[in-house]
Amino acid sequence: EAKAAGRNTIKFFQDEMEKTVKYKLALENDLRQAIPKKQFELYYQPQVCVNSGNVLGAEALVRWIHPEKGLISPLDFIPSAEQSGLIHPLGALIFRTACEQLHSFPKIPRISVNISAKQFHAPNFVETIEQIIKDTNISPDRLELELTESAMLADIEETASKMNELKSMGFTFALDDFGTGYSSLTYLKQLPFDVLKIDRSFIANIMEDPEHAGIATAVISLGKALDLHVVGEGVETEDHLHFLKRQGAHSAQGYYISRPVPADQFIAWHTQRMTG
Ligand code: C2E
Ligand code: MG
Ligand code: MG
Ligand code: MG
Repeated sequence: EAKAAGRNTIKFFQDEMEKTVKYKLALENDLRQAIPKKQFELYYQPQVCVNSGNVLGAEALVRWIHPEKGLISPLDFIPSAEQSGLIHPLGALIFRTACEQLHSFPKIPRISVNISAKQFHAPNFVETIEQIIKDTNISPDRLELELTESAMLADIEETASKMNELKSMGFTFALDDFGTGYSSLTYLKQLPFDVLKIDRSFIANIMEDPEHAGIATAVISLGKALDLHVVGEGVETEDHLHFLKRQGAHSAQGYYISRPVPADQFIAWHTQRMTG
């Protein structure tokens, strides 16, 4: 009887694993078809100056508009896109869409686009970006590329030279989710970042937890010491915004200012903000 129970347990886990594998394959298959069908939409979330409130830019955040499942979060398909290699065509589509839409945002200084580590390290990444810039007739100084710390881990020299190549064309770089990865300060100093984005997990608890507030304060001063533009992510309350301002961060992004919204809503939000 114990043996039978054991077999049932194994059977249960095998079934569960099979379900997971099947689900993953189905998702990947759907994703492969979604790219040529362009079933994606970019949402935009503004970044504002903590002092003036001026809109300095916006981050493009992808959503998959699945014909049956509806809106799917990037957290649920970017990992699969990375594992399957689909991140290369998907990343190019996202970047092209952002460049095309940038023409409808003449009053927005720049747009930030998330670039996954695998995409950045592809041998033809720079050529792909260059081609899209040419095709869409966009000036690279209106685009900021967001990399996470995992992108730097691979090969620091390759990363630095690729970044410098793109910077010489006019692109700027932001280090996303700062504080959640494994990067050492030595790495940070060797790479030509312009912007440091403090992960929202540090901002989230500043009011309740003095240790979190201490870490957030330290990260802001670190960014300033390295001469970087410091952005606080996940600003959900007025207190969060005031904290960033007091500590000398430069800009803020979060639900308190605006949720990520489709392009037309972003334009409407910006127009209303400018006209009062
Ligand atoms: P991220 O680049 O760090 O983007 C910020 C995430 O925080 C977004 O989630 C945004 O909606 C969310 N957020 C913004 N303000 C607040 C706030 O006040 N409170 C809370 N709780 N959350 C806030 P989203 O859009 O679900 O994107 C999740 C992650 O997926 C992104 O994190 C990024 O790593 C990845 N991602 C999104 N779009 C793309 C893309 O086009 N390409 C790639 N490679 N990755 C992307
Ligand atoms: Mg980002
Ligand atoms: Mg982030
Ligand atoms: Mg994140």
